Amino acid sequence: MDPEIPYLLLTPGPLSTSRTVREAMLHDYSTWDVDYNAQVNEIRQRLVRLATVESGADETGQPEDYTTVLMQGSGTFSVEATIGSVIPPDGKLLVISNGKYGARVAEITRRLNIPLVEYIQPEVSPPDLGELQDKLNADPDITHVAMVHCETTTGMLNPAAEVGRIVKQAGKIYIVDAMSSFGGYPMSMESLSADYLISSANKCIEGVPGFGFIIANRKHLEATQGWARSLSFDLHDQWQEMEKNQGKWRYTSPTHVVLAFLQALKELAAEGGIPARHARYTENQQTLVTGLRKLGLKMLLSDDCHSVIITSIIYPDSDRFHFQDFYDRMKSKRFVLYPGKVSQSDTFRIGNIGHVFVDDIHLLVKTIRKTLEEMGVTLSPPE
Ligand SMILES: *Cc1c(COP(=O)(O)O)cnc(C)c1O
Repeated sequence: MDPEIPYLLLTPGPLSTSRTVREAMLHDYSTWDVDYNAQVNEIRQRLVRLATVESGADETGQPEDYTTVLMQGSGTFSVEATIGSVIPPDGKLLVISNGKYGARVAEITRRLNIPLVEYIQPEVSPPDLGELQDKLNADPDITHVAMVHCETTTGMLNPAAEVGRIVKQAGKIYIVDAMSSFGGYPMSMESLSADYLISSANKCIEGVPGFGFIIANRKHLEATQGWARSLSFDLHDQWQEMEKNQGKWRYTSPTHVVLAFLQALKELAAEGGIPARHARYTENQQTLVTGLRKLGLKMLLSDDCHSVIITSIIYPDSDRFHFQDFYDRMKSKRFVLYPGKVSQSDTFRIGNIGHVFVDDIHLLVKTIRKTLEEMGVTLSPPE
């Protein structure tokens, strides 16, 4: 662990970043200066490549068929911009949801008065593909389908590619919230059959918070002119500004965050791209789960649907365990954990993403063991 940082964030974003990413912010730029706009354009080109030829996925499309729009705000703002902009006035959205982030997509849709069908599954179950097919068959008015790739609520990895095939067979447009997984999993627009893929600066690319981005099928995005339900969140207008004015945003952009993000993209490439980053996160997650199981802790999800992004851990079965106390003690030992969000069981979460390495995880597991001992929480490790 970097001795200069007060603690390591083991959260799904904002997360721990490298010192060089943070240092990239030590410049003030004007938003319409060419030096700055060139960096914006470089980011946009790199993102399209990461979603196509540099995705690490088996199927990759051509970069020319896709484009990127950056949008100010947190990740949710980009989800809202997409939902509010790409569904035509007579469109209807099917949202597949098995967690809080899926529910948020549905909530955005309701607020925007866009006709909505919700397919809700329990938080510990992936969507059933047969049921999805039935929902699509039953309602020909559905024009778009949206789903979260890694449901950060639990850490569930949803079958986004399988769902994408069904969505495409049915002739619908597919929107994927890959907020917490893009950059950390090999995936391409082609391999997911995605028309729109949404993520943000402060997740697996390991930048700092301040904007999100949408990778879009160029043809589909072109057709959306005039559909946006709000001015600031008009995806088509934002895109046109970036295209025509070579990297200019409409309205003030988070210049320092943009610089940090370009640096983060360069560091992702230097690490060996998405496959290498995925391998690091996988090692982090497996080391964590193996270590915690040895202590006698249990995970919420079964291994077959578990992502490497974030892990939900069931509270130890002991009346000596209080999460806030555990959290404070862990923080004083320089690890910041994340509370749980699921409704059906008491859990806390540990993120495996960010500038976090396997040695950090070994130290983390040791620190958890010591902390539980200190609290008088006894566990029964497996034989
Ligand atoms: C982080 C995240 C978001 C966006 O959250 P913000 O707090 O708005 O940045 C959306 N969907 C998923 C799956 C996420 O993990």
